[in-house]
Amino acid sequence: MDQISTRQSLPAEPRDFGFYVDGARVPAAERAVFIRHSPAHDVPVTRIPKCTEGDLDMAVDAARRAFDDRRWSGLSGQARAAVLLKAGALIRARAEEIAYWETLENGKPIAQARGEVLGCADMYEYASGLARSLHGDSFNNLGDGMMGLVTREPVGVVGIITPWNFPFLILCERVPYILASGCTIVVKPSEMTSATSLILAQILTEAGLPDGCMNVVTGSGSTIGQAMAEHPRIDMLSFTGSTAVGRRVVEAAGRSNFKKLGLELGGKNPQVVFADADLEDAADGVAFGIAFNTGQCCVSGSRLIVERSVADRFAEMVRDKLAKAVTGDPLDEATQIGAITTEAQNRTILSYIEKGKEEGARLICGGGALDMGQGQYIAPTIFGDVTAEMVIARDEIFGPVLTILPFDTLDEAIAIANDTDYGLAASVWTKDIDKALVVTRRVQAGRFWVNCTLAGGPELPLGGFKQSGWGREAGKYGVEEYTQIKSVHIEIGKRRPWIA
Ligand code: NDP
Repeated sequence: MDQISTRQSLPAEPRDFGFYVDGARVPAAERAVFIRHSPAHDVPVTRIPKCTEGDLDMAVDAARRAFDDRRWSGLSGQARAAVLLKAGALIRARAEEIAYWETLENGKPIAQARGEVLGCADMYEYASGLARSLHGDSFNNLGDGMMGLVTREPVGVVGIITPWNFPFLILCERVPYILASGCTIVVKPSEMTSATSLILAQILTEAGLPDGCMNVVTGSGSTIGQAMAEHPRIDMLSFTGSTAVGRRVVEAAGRSNFKKLGLELGGKNPQVVFADADLEDAADGVAFGIAFNTGQCCVSGSRLIVERSVADRFAEMVRDKLAKAVTGDPLDEATQIGAITTEAQNRTILSYIEKGKEEGARLICGGGALDMGQGQYIAPTIFGDVTAEMVIARDEIFGPVLTILPFDTLDEAIAIANDTDYGLAASVWTKDIDKALVVTRRVQAGRFWVNCTLAGGPELPLGGFKQSGWGREAGKYGVEEYTQIKSVHIEIGKRRPWIA
C-alpha cells in the first residue's frame, strides 16, 4: 500500500518496511522483526526489522563512501538545493500517507500529524536556500603579504537518533540542514516509530539524493543506538531523547572517537502568567502547551507559574479549556488529544499522577486513565498546591500533567522558573512589555515564547540551556552545527626568510 486515500481505516495487516541502505530498501529476510501495535487501537500496524550491528556497519560504510568520494559534498549548493526542493514537493505530495503511518505508530491525532508533515516540507524548502547561502569568511586585514580565508566544511557522516514523540518532525528538523551542509546520514529511529523515517529515505532517493547519503537502520536503542554512539566511523551524532540516555551517549562518544555531539534532551518548561495577561489567551495557550501531543513533548509547558492574585481563577479557566478538548480516536479528524505512545510511558505518567496525589498536591482535574474501549489514554491532569520540592514539580513527566506554582513578585517568578536542572523552553504571558523582556532575558531557556507557546518554523533554532542539551538544530545555526571551519593563511609574494 503506497498511497492512502482520505478514508482513514486501519490497515488489514501490518506493513513491512524493511530498512534502508545505500539508496535501496533492504527486506527483513531472516532478521528478527519488531511488530508495532497502534497505541490507540491495539492492532498490529507495522513490522520493522531488528537490525544487527553488522547492518549498522553496512549503513555506516555506505554513508562513509558517499561522503569520502564527495558525490554529495562536492556538488554545488545549487545542485544540493534542487534535491532538497524536490524532497519538499514529494513530502507535500505524500503528506496523507506519511501522516497516516505517523498516527498509527505514535497515536497522535491525524490532523496534527498532517500539519507536522506539511511543516516538514517547508523545512526542506527553507534549507535549500541555506545550501546555497552557506559560506565562510575572508580576512583582508592581515597586511599586504597575507590573506586569510575561513572555509566551512561538512563534518562528515552524521548519525541521528530520534525519539517516538515526533518521529517525522524531529527527523526533519535535522535532515535537510545536515544535507544542506554536505554531510551524509545514518538514522536510527525509535523502534516504536520507524515507519515515517523509512518513507523519508525513499523520498530522498526519488528526489535525486545520491545513494548512500541517507540510510536508516532500525532496532532498539540499547543495541543499535548504543552501537552508533560508540561507532568510530560516525563523525557526529545528533541525539534527541532523555537526559539519562544523553549522558550515556556522551560517555560512549568519549570512549570511542570523540565524535561531535548535538543533544536535545528533557525539559520542565515554565509558563509564567502575570495577572495583567490576556487571561483568556493565556488559558488557551497553557492548555495547548500541556495537552498538545498528550504532553509527550520536550517543550511542553508543564510548570504553570502564575501570579497568586489570579491563580485560582486561572486554574479554573485552564481546567474549563481542557474539559472542552476532544480526546479520542486519533484517526478521527476532530480529535485533538490522542493516545499515549508507549506502554512504558503510559505507566510512567500514571505513576507520576499517583505520586502527586501521595505528595499531597490538590487534584484539580483528570487524575488517571481514560477508558476509550481500546488503546491507552490519560485525562489531562492539573495539580494545585504544588511545592517546589515535590517530585511532580521537578521531574520531566512527559505527559499531560500540569503543576501549578504561584508567585507574588517578578523576581520570585524568575527564581521559580530557573529552579530546575533543565533549560529547554519557556513562555511568558503579560501585556507589560517590560515584564515580558525582563523574564525573557533572565529565565534560562533555549527557546522563548511571549504571549504564545510551542510556536516554531524552520527559521529559528532549537536547543537547550543547562541539562537540556548541547548545540542547536534548524535555521542557519542548525546548518552551521554540521560544519567545521578551517582557517587558511595565504602568503602573497616573496617569503621573508626564517634562515637567512
Ligand atoms: P530514550 O532516551 O530512551 O529514547 C530516545 C531515543 O534513544 C530512542 O531512539 C531510543 O531507541 C534511543 N536509545 C535508547 N537507549 C539508547 C542508548 N543506550 N544509546 C543510544 N540510543 C538509545 O527515551 P524513552 O523513549 O525511553 O523515554 C523516556 C523519557 O525520556 C521520557 O519519559 C521523557 O522524559 C524523555 N524523552 C524526551 C524526549 C525529548 O524530545 N526530549 C523524547 C523522548 C523521551 P528505542 O526507542 O528504539 O529504544
